[in-house]
Amino acid sequence: MGRRQYPWVLATVAWSDAQQYTRGTLDGLPLLSHGCAPRDVLATRRQLRALGLRPGGADPVAVLYGRHNRSKARWFASLYLIARAVPVRPMTPAKHTALAKANLARRICRTCGRDPLYVLPRSTRQCWPCFELTHDTDDLTEAA
Ligand SMILES: [Zn+2]
Repeated sequence: MGRRQYPWVLATVAWSDAQQYTRGTLDGLPLLSHGCAPRDVLATRRQLRALGLRPGGADPVAVLYGRHNRSKARWFASLYLIARAVPVRPMTPAKHTALAKANLARRICRTCGRDPLYVLPRSTRQCWPCFELTHDTDDLTEAA
């Protein structure tokens, strides 16, 4: 334990004009340990998502590493420039309408035409009251 696998290295980085201390490089990107990455400038994909942003085709500018407390396993996460991230693609009205239509079609009972507010079984496309009713009727017809 306590072995310093990643020594501090002063390096040129994408997010600052001045050289910054890093933990070397990984796959050609500056490596940062958890806690020394500037949170206001760099973010992981998940952190971007929380901000309503996505990398938008931008390449990561650094790699963050940390260690899981329990397993001691090392994890790595790509870091992106928040300034270069773009908003999450909003759903277009057309997309929204198509999705709503598809969902509604799956809910409308083909017998009574009502929306029971749940997705109907694919095989019957009927709400439960109608299903029971038609099956009772069938039974009666058969019995008669
Ligand atoms: Zn029905």
